[in-house]
Amino acid sequence: MIKIEIDKGSGFCFGVVTAIHKAEEELAKGKTLYCLGDIVHNSREVERLKAMGLITINHEEFRRLRNAKVLLRAHGEPPETYETARKNNIEIIDATCPVVLQLQKRIKQSFLNDERQDKQIVIYGKNGHAEVLGLVGQTDGKAIVIEKAEEIGKLDFNKSIRLFSQTTKSLDGFQEIVSRIKEHISSKSAFEYYDTICRQVANRMPKLREFAASHDLIFFVSGKKSSNGKILFDECLKVNPNSHLIDGEEDIDPALLRNINSIGICGATSTPKWLMERIYAHIRSLMDK
Ligand code: SF4
Repeated sequence: MIKIEIDKGSGFCFGVVTAIHKAEEELAKGKTLYCLGDIVHNSREVERLKAMGLITINHEEFRRLRNAKVLLRAHGEPPETYETARKNNIEIIDATCPVVLQLQKRIKQSFLNDERQDKQIVIYGKNGHAEVLGLVGQTDGKAIVIEKAEEIGKLDFNKSIRLFSQTTKSLDGFQEIVSRIKEHISSKSAFEYYDTICRQVANRMPKLREFAASHDLIFFVSGKKSSNGKILFDECLKVNPNSHLIDGEEDIDPALLRNINSIGICGATSTPKWLMERIYAHIRSLMDK
């Protein structure tokens, strides 16, 4: 019989678990609850909560909203969002992950306290990602976002640099940026860097690599919008080229299941456990045919 295993280390991180619990708790009270943006980058989980009554809105709809209750997801929000809520009598249920909240505070303090006029606050992150927008918002929009080491040309090496990272970026990518900046920075300018990568993601990598290498075939379950999903899937691919990114069971090509002895199912910090279990059951049913 073919072995099928779900990775025990995969699934929601504590930030996402807390946000979903908060949403469920509020929904249980029976009142209308809005969520600013998808609560998690997984359409299946978003659909599940929608069926329970959660209404997902975008920032434009949020600005038009009055006298309502809105949940802020784990990614966090820039200060303008809180300001709009105050003006529009919106009650905020703040599910910003404490790790993100801490990073926002650090960046804000760094921006406000720095006496040097030539400072550049740099964030290694994905442009337009909700968490990054929340971080840039702490600097009145002045922080410079770089997505990869090749983009360090955006920086002025004659000015001081203070580098932070989006919580879900890769440690390797961060270290590469640090060494490239060190190579280029002028001797008269200061360079400080802070590894602010969340260990809920980074610590998963070695275990995930081990898991992916121990199976013939890997199904990595993740929404296409998930930023850490992409990073973790790439790690699987590095050690097991027979790794496949799937959103749900309908993405499974039965032809892949031929001539293999073991299948691993794993996912991102935004992948619900119930979805991985459903995929497990689906593969079993395909095997039984
Ligand atoms: S990955 Fe880390 S920082 Fe991001 S929500 Fe999860 S626990 Fe919080």
